[in-house]
Amino acid sequence: MAIPILDDLERLIVEHGSATVRGDHIALLREQREGLEKKVADLQSENGSLKEEIRDLREKLKTAAPPNEFIKYRGVLFRRLPTGVIEDAVYCWKCRGPMVSMKRHMPYQCTACNITADFTVSWLPEIMKEAAMLAPK
Ligand SMILES: [Zn+2]
Repeated sequence: MAIPILDDLERLIVEHGSATVRGDHIALLREQREGLEKKVADLQSENGSLKEEIRDLREKLKTAAPPNEFIKYRGVLFRRLPTGVIEDAVYCWKCRGPMVSMKRHMPYQCTACNITADFTVSWLPEIMKEAAMLAPK
């Protein structure tokens, strides 16, 4: 047979205890929620800054000059191909047009600008190696 006052006391302890535990749990959850809300706000702010930076960099990229693929050496230009290899050709420093070596034993010359290099086809492989070393990829 239950004693009414003890039932009431037990109910009080259970309810009071549960309320305390529930209160602690709610406080913990509230703390976690506040932490997460702050984290979300920080990430949104960071994301906004990064989006702005990307937009600025894209704008800069649009107006940026293409990478200088030409290497100036021995009074002429050599061109580095996208593969990193120096092209087997000589270009004029002034008009960037191809230069030719008449009959392969005359110095390279730009027929448009009348600029003449100080070397011929036979020196080209050696000079290309020197040019490649001057401007490593
Ligand atoms: Zn030229």
